[in-house]
Amino acid sequence: MFYDHVVPEDELLRHVDIAMYQAKHRGRNNLCFFDQAMQAVIIERAAMEADLRVALEQKQFILYYQQQITHDDQIVGAEVLIRWQHPERGLILPMDFIPIGEETGLILAIGQWVLETACAQLKRWESNPQTQHLQLAINVSAHQFHQIDFVKQITDILDKSAIDHSRLKLELTESMLLNEQTEITEKMHALKALGVGFSLDDFGTGYSSLSYLTHLPFDQLKIDRSFVHNIGVNHTDSVIVQTLIGMTSNLLDMQIIAEGVETEEQRAFLEHNGCDLCQGYLFSKPVPLAEFEALLPKS
Ligand code: C2E
Ligand code: MG
Ligand code: MG
Repeated sequence: MFYDHVVPEDELLRHVDIAMYQAKHRGRNNLCFFDQAMQAVIIERAAMEADLRVALEQKQFILYYQQQITHDDQIVGAEVLIRWQHPERGLILPMDFIPIGEETGLILAIGQWVLETACAQLKRWESNPQTQHLQLAINVSAHQFHQIDFVKQITDILDKSAIDHSRLKLELTESMLLNEQTEITEKMHALKALGVGFSLDDFGTGYSSLSYLTHLPFDQLKIDRSFVHNIGVNHTDSVIVQTLIGMTSNLLDMQIIAEGVETEEQRAFLEHNGCDLCQGYLFSKPVPLAEFEALLPKS
């Protein structure tokens, strides 16, 4: 098949290796031909991984904060969203490096840094009446949460930062909750006992099993922005949003927050149906700390 390609032997073997890796990646009993694009992806990934290690050492990550707001415009806190200030490529969004972090295990160090930095911020806010009520929601990755000593890691950070534990909220996604139910329940209950809160992120996009909601100690449910986007556009999604709000407040006694709120129409619909909190570009994009603080009311 490769007789008309003049490729040196070792290069050819490398190609075979890449194709085999791809075939394995796709599952059992697979056949895969090498193509140049595969190699480009692998080279790009390797470069990213090396850069990520440097980023950790040189502290190139920054936290952005996106306010979470009540219907009477009170800012109750923010979701913390990581950005990577790459020296050559500029600002990189999480979807372009978190997956590589997950694959390489570097997410553990990244996640640790996010938690420490956010808790240190909560501590600084404690002494100021303008900020001491604020809560921060942190995204936790699957890899991080499934670490055997996850509870200890969080406890250590809480001890070190000496913050009011109830200011910290951890965002989990449904895909993290599929297996090892006992382990998940134990971890969540242990952290809950310390006062840490939990939010179920991107609700509606995964399995949306009601058993998570009834069996696991979530304080908050976050309606995924794809549903919010369709308010007033797609009837089914509008009804889903209405139903989720009704279910959380009447049945489950959880708080509900909508993410990705971009229009006044969406905000009004959410308020009318009893949604507790909103987050989205309508109020503010995720912004660096100083800008977030500048948005807080002066009193
Ligand atoms: P997420 O947790 O669902 O975060 C919400 C995403 O929606 C953020 O994207 C935010 O910028 C975006 N967003 C907020 N308001 C609006 C809006 O009105 N319209 C639209 N179209 N989008 C809006 P971002 O910052 O790019 O983060 C993407 C994802 O990366 C997050 O999704 C989260 O899963 C992950 N992520 C972010 N920071 C961290 C982190 O520190 N650790 C981990 N493990 N994952 C993180
Ligand atoms: Mg989130
Ligand atoms: Mg989300």
